[in-house]
Amino acid sequence: MAVKNTETGEIHVGNKGGETGCGLDTSASHWKRSTEAITCDRNGCKN
Ligand SMILES: [Zn+2]
Repeated sequence: MAVKNTETGEIHVGNKGGETGCGLDTSASHWKRSTEAITCDRNGCKN
């Protein structure tokens, strides 16, 4: 599962409408579901 922040282009672990692996709220409209590889390197997204 992955979500993309369309403002930064970063791909995080997580689902739209929840939280990313690194703790960001994905309910805002600039978060979209994604099938791309994770690019976020913060704890929780990068293992
Ligand atoms: Zn992240």
